[in-house]
Amino acid sequence: MADAGMVERTYCAVHPDRETELRCNKCGRLMCADCAVSTPVGYRCRECVRGIRQKFYNAEPGDYLRVALVCAAACGIATGIVGIVRIPLLFLLLLGLPLGGATAELTVRALNKRRGEHIDRTAAAGAAVGGLIGALAPIFVQYNQIASQAAARGVAVPPLTLDVLVQALLRDWTTLIFIALVTAAIYGRYRMRA
Ligand SMILES: [Zn+2]
Ligand SMILES: [Zn+2]
Repeated sequence: MADAGMVERTYCAVHPDRETELRCNKCGRLMCADCAVSTPVGYRCRECVRGIRQKFYNAEPGDYLRVALVCAAACGIATGIVGIVRIPLLFLLLLGLPLGGATAELTVRALNKRRGEHIDRTAAAGAAVGGLIGALAPIFVQYNQIASQAAARGVAVPPLTLDVLVQALLRDWTTLIFIALVTAAIYGRYRMRA
């Protein structure tokens, strides 16, 4: 072929076997279709995209733990109280959202403008886990009381299996709704911030 040597072939910087002419519009490196990331300002390589993300998300590793723990504690303690006091459903519904909102507000302020890429999910997961622990704790306490009373009378009580726990939780569906509301409010507040 006459012009085979005329056109210089260029290859992806990451995949030397893939021919490409596409360049990152920031650092200029060659990249194949798999390596290119479409951004609002054009195609960029993964390295440059990651660099921007790291500058934008400046949360410290400890922030994730603190946010998760505060949300877990707030939701867990509230759920425990709600489970013991037996607040009517209407009040549960009225309480859940502001409680979640206030908890999220508190942690958002404590972060002092630091952002984390998955901090919204971390906060929501913390609240959900804390809430479940708060809902399960009274069940454990109750079971232990029944079991020790039964043992005193010489009666065997079936073990507290996962099945029994799940059934007890489902019977207590108003508490589950409360946990869901608190979690949703926390997640919503964090999404709003982004
Ligand atoms: Zn680049
Ligand atoms: Zn590539």
